[in-house]
Formats: sequence, structure tokens, C-alpha cells
Amino acid sequence: MDLDKLTAGFRQVMEGLGLDPEDPHLKDTPLKTARAWYEDICAGLGEAEIGLQVYPVEEGQQTGLIALQHIPVKSLCAHHLLPFVGYATVGFLPGNYYCGLSHLSRVVNHFARRPQMQELLTHQVAQFLSDRLAPRGVGVAVQASHYCMELRGVNHSGIMNTSVMLGAMRDDPGLRAEFLALAPNSRKT
Ligand SMILES: [Zn+2]
Repeated sequence: MDLDKLTAGFRQVMEGLGLDPEDPHLKDTPLKTARAWYEDICAGLGEAEIGLQVYPVEEGQQTGLIALQHIPVKSLCAHHLLPFVGYATVGFLPGNYYCGLSHLSRVVNHFARRPQMQELLTHQVAQFLSDRLAPRGVGVAVQASHYCMELRGVNHSGIMNTSVMLGAMRDDPGLRAEFLALAPNSRKT
């Protein structure tokens, strides 16, 4: 990422809108906006590969489904560059490895903090965990509100649900149901 190019770009957007660049409230806006994109909104683009810390599962200590709920999803729709925000539930059925639960949030954040599509985000998180943890199954469910639907076009409340299940989570109806009962779209919040 290039902070100078971002700043120049946001300045052009403001010029395109016909705004006065000398207005005291707007003077620093291109740089502030560029910093927000660089440091937070698109931070995933600047991150190196995530080092997922894994721990071996001891003999005879196999567990069932491990899931983390209510993981914040804060992303930017790739088609309109408007936010989509919501929550993810990520679960896996360990094979030979565990990982720290906080790492699940970090993986979601890494793939969310960039221009993204919710379907692809859901898939990328599931595939990443499948590749790195070699679990017996993995599930990712995301529910997010899309501002590109809320602020433009149909002005509709744009809540979207996506899920990806791999391995036993996809093939075993009991496990699938157990995971989906934890997913954000099963709650009334
Ligand atoms: Zn959009």
C-alpha cells in the first residue's frame, strides 16, 4: 500500500465532489482518510502471512467441535468500497492439532480487512484453517449488514448470511446442525 497515493486519491474524490479543500473541516481529510484505510480498514493487505500457532492433540484427548462465536467482521465491499459489518462463527473439529481461539479472530480479521466479498471471505477463512490445521472438519458462518445496500440502490436493510463447511462438518448432518445452531443467523440479535 502507498499512503501518498491514497492521500492524493482521496483529495481527488473531494475535488470531484466540488468540496472546498481549504475548508477547515476538510483540510486534513484526505490524509486522515488515507491513514484510516492504510492502518485499519485495509490493514489485512499490509499483513504478512498469518503464523497460526498450533498445538498437538495428545493421544486419547480428542474433543468434539471447538467454536468461537461473535467474532467481529469489519470489511469493505469490493464492488462499492462501502463497509459491511457483522459477526462470524468459526468452528473446527480437531484432527491432530488445535490452535488458540484468539487466532480464529485474527484469521477472520486478516481476510476481512481489505476490499472483499462476503462469500469469498467465508470461503478463505474456512480454506485457510483447513490447510493449516488439517482438522476433521471446519465451518465458517458470517452474517453481515452491507452498507452498499443500505445507503444506495434499493435502500434495503442488507443483511446477508453465508456459510462454508468442509470435511466432516459438511458430510455429517449432526455436526452440521450442531455448528449451524451456533452460527450468527440462528440468533435473534
Ligand atoms: Zn457492494
